[in-house]
Amino acid sequence: MPSSPDQIFRPEILALSAYHVPPATGMVKLDAMENPYSLPSELRDEIALLATCAPINRYPDPSAALLKAALREALAVPDGMDIMLGNGSDEIIQIIALACARPEAVLMSVEPAFVMFRMIATFAGMGYAGVPLKADFSLDVDAMLAAIAQHQPAVIFIAYPNNPTGNLFDASAISRIIESAPGVVVVDEAYHAFADASFMDKLAQYSNLLLMRTLSKSGLAGLRLGLLVGRREWLSQLEKLRLPYNVGVMTQLIAEKVLRYPDILLQQAVAIKIERAAMSERLAALDGIDVFPTDANFILFRLTQGNEASQVFQRLKERGILIKNLDGSHPLLKNCLRVTVGTPHENAQFLGALQARL
Ligand SMILES: *Cc1c(COP(=O)(O)O)cnc(C)c1O
Repeated sequence: MPSSPDQIFRPEILALSAYHVPPATGMVKLDAMENPYSLPSELRDEIALLATCAPINRYPDPSAALLKAALREALAVPDGMDIMLGNGSDEIIQIIALACARPEAVLMSVEPAFVMFRMIATFAGMGYAGVPLKADFSLDVDAMLAAIAQHQPAVIFIAYPNNPTGNLFDASAISRIIESAPGVVVVDEAYHAFADASFMDKLAQYSNLLLMRTLSKSGLAGLRLGLLVGRREWLSQLEKLRLPYNVGVMTQLIAEKVLRYPDILLQQAVAIKIERAAMSERLAALDGIDVFPTDANFILFRLTQGNEASQVFQRLKERGILIKNLDGSHPLLKNCLRVTVGTPHENAQFLGALQARL
C-alpha cells in the first residue's frame, strides 16, 4: 500500500517550494504592490448595505453578467471582444495553462518575470522556457525569436509593465513576438493603472493576442478579481475550464459598485504615481543606490556600495518595514530590492529606515 505523498504526488510538485507570503501583522507593508488607500467612508457605507442584503445563501451568478457589463464600460473593452473572469488573474493564468497543456507543450516568458508563470506551468504539467532580459531589463528580441523558433511555445506570457522590474517593454518588440508566436500571447497588464500604455487596442489586429487585467494592484486586492479579454474563439474554450462559481457573491457586488465610481481608484492611482516620482528621486539621491525606471506602483533598486541586499532587507524588517528581497532570485537581480509605493507617511518611514541602514 502506498503510504506517503512522495509515492503518490508528481515529482515536480514535490520539488516545488510553496509561494511564500511572509507574515505582515503590524508591519509597514510595502512588499505586495497593494494600494495603500482605503475607499471613502460613504462608499464603504454603501458596501456595508450591499453586504447586509447580499444573498449569500445562494450561489453567485455564474456568468457575472452585471459585473462584466460594468467592467466592459470601465475598461473600455472593444466591441466584439469577450471577457472571462478569474478569482484573481492568477486563476486565469492557471486556466490558460491547463488548456494549453498538451504533452510536451511549453509555456514561455521572460526572466526575471512574475514567478507564477513558471510555477503554474509546473502545476499544469507544462514545460517552461524563460528567456533572459537584457541587463537593462529590456526585451532581448533576438533571443526571444530564437527561443520561439526552438520551443514552439503554446503560450507566451508578457507582463506589461513587467514585475519585478517595473518597466514597460518596447511595444514594437512585443508586436514582433506576437507576430512570430505559433500559439497565444497573453499580455498581462496587472499594473495598467500606473502606466500610460496598453495592448487593448491591438486585440483587433492580432488573432493570437489575449489581454489580462486585475483589480488587485489598483485597490481591490482582497476581492480577488482578474479578467481576460479576447476573441470568443479562445475565450469560449477557456470558459469550459473555469469553475462555475469562481467569483463569489460579495466580489461581484462590491466590484460592480466600486466600478460605478471610477474616479476614486483613478485619483488614488494618480496619488500613487506622484509619490512614485518623489520616492524614486529621494532613493536615487541616497549614496550607493541605483534606481530603475518604473511604470508600476513599485520601485526596483540595487545596492551598489558593498551593502548586502539581504542584510538591509532583514534590518528593515526588524524595524517593522516589509519590502521584497530579490537578491538570489535571478542573476540580473543581484543585490536588488523592490519596494511598493505606499502612503507618503509609509514611504518616509521606509526611506528613513533605509538611510539609517546604508
Ligand atoms: C500581482 C500580479 C498578478 C496577479 O494578480 P491577482 O489578480 O491578484 O491574482 C498577475 N500578474 C502580474 C504580473 C502581477 O504582478
